[in-house]
Amino acid sequence: MEVEGVPVGGLTNWAGNHAYVARTLHEPESIEQLQEIVWNSRSLRVLGTRHSFNDIADTAGDLLSLRRMPRVFDLDRAAGTITVDGGVRYGELCGPLDAAGFALHSLASLPHISVAGACATATHGSGDRIGNLATAVAALEVVTADGEKTAFARDRDPDAFNGAVVSLGALGVVTSVTLELQPTFRMRQDVYEDLALDRVVEHFDEVTASADSVSLFTEWLGPTVEQVWLKRRVADGEAFEPLPDLFGATLARVPLHPIRGMSADACTHQLGAAGPWHERMPHFRMDHTPSAGDELQSEYLIPRQHAGEALLALAAIRDRFAALLLITEVRTIAADQLWMSTAFGRASVSIHFTWQPNWDGVRAVLPAIEDVLAPFEPRPHWGKLFTMSPEAVRSSYAKLPQFVALIERHDPAGKFRNRFIDRYIFGSD
Ligand SMILES: Cc1cc2nc3c(=O)[nH]c(=O)nc-3n(C[C@H](O)[C@H](O)[C@H](O)COP(=O)(O)OP(=O)(O)OC[C@H]3O[C@@H](n4cnc5c(N)ncnc54)[C@H](O)[C@@H]3O)c2cc1C
Repeated sequence: MEVEGVPVGGLTNWAGNHAYVARTLHEPESIEQLQEIVWNSRSLRVLGTRHSFNDIADTAGDLLSLRRMPRVFDLDRAAGTITVDGGVRYGELCGPLDAAGFALHSLASLPHISVAGACATATHGSGDRIGNLATAVAALEVVTADGEKTAFARDRDPDAFNGAVVSLGALGVVTSVTLELQPTFRMRQDVYEDLALDRVVEHFDEVTASADSVSLFTEWLGPTVEQVWLKRRVADGEAFEPLPDLFGATLARVPLHPIRGMSADACTHQLGAAGPWHERMPHFRMDHTPSAGDELQSEYLIPRQHAGEALLALAAIRDRFAALLLITEVRTIAADQLWMSTAFGRASVSIHFTWQPNWDGVRAVLPAIEDVLAPFEPRPHWGKLFTMSPEAVRSSYAKLPQFVALIERHDPAGKFRNRFIDRYIFGSD
């Protein structure tokens, strides 16, 4: 029995800047249907919630979405883990998880993305001691090219596991993900305005250590970081009084959106009101459009010790790119051991750019930004837009040969390879 797909016709990513070139979209409703599709397809990629800005999820062959697969919520209280299906979004998972008394260690700026898609691209939040979202993964089940299920678990085969978690979609279809949990907690969010850039550079470690999760936002219009978002865990009943002043920045008295002029209604609660972890860690609310909506994004991760130098170098060329920018966000990410993670082996700082939806303009300025960051060995976010050469990207991943071998072992015919994987992993496009 062959499971029919539908023509992809006109399907785009979330931002609308990429129209998928795939022929067919499959939306299986059972694991058996999914295995049948994998077995029968010659060229296949999995779609998450389509929030990536480049062609990482695309293929000239078939696309597969797990949207219609049965939801799995298999909580193991004793182990402190939850196993979920490969299509679930954080926004669907977090409420029930919190109600059951548990929490995830980190979330991205938005809850709209799928767990499997976020982990596959090393999506991250912020925090000096907080690894990216993929570092919560304890085990994966993947339907590989032969249609069979393969399990990867940190405690059984740590080497293959470290290669499999940030898979870039090249290993097969992730049908289940087991995540490590923490006891649920509450957080408060305080925002400060107008932190001078030279104070950021001078006190970078202190600024990013001033809460559990810190984000700096700047439009690069002057030597100032316009907003600093501090997300802090609070114990029940804890009386916490935020300092009125953070290295010269002042405590905001009204809720703010990171992008000037946009309504803070789309944002999670600020002004210090304590609430559940999943309603404070993301910047944006599940029931609103995150960020600007009409936009492009780029982001580079560098070793955190270069943060100050990198920010000053970008400030020096801000006239080249500021007119195209909606906002820059600077975050910190703990080092990890996942082979293709942008934070592999490096405590990192991420420098993110939300752009106006003008790809010609953005494509023209990215090389200048990448040149300025080049001395710091930037790793571009796998799901965002960049113009760095495949050689430069490949050379910053020490475990790339092992990752290539892992893919070849599980997918010898290259069923899950696409242009993006050929270019940036195999160097063969
Ligand atoms: C408004 C906005 C805000 C963002 N904020 C952040 C942020 O705060 N931090 C950050 O790091 N990034 C951020 N991103 C980027 C985003 O997190 C990544 O692009 C992420 O990959 C999106 O997940 P997705 O489910 O949409 O995956 P998709 O974009 O659909 O797919 C991404 C990759 O995952 C693979 N994949 C998806 N599901 C599976 C599966 N079940 N099995 C195997 N492979 C799979 C795909 O094949 C593809 O290679 C943001 C993006 C947007 C649009």
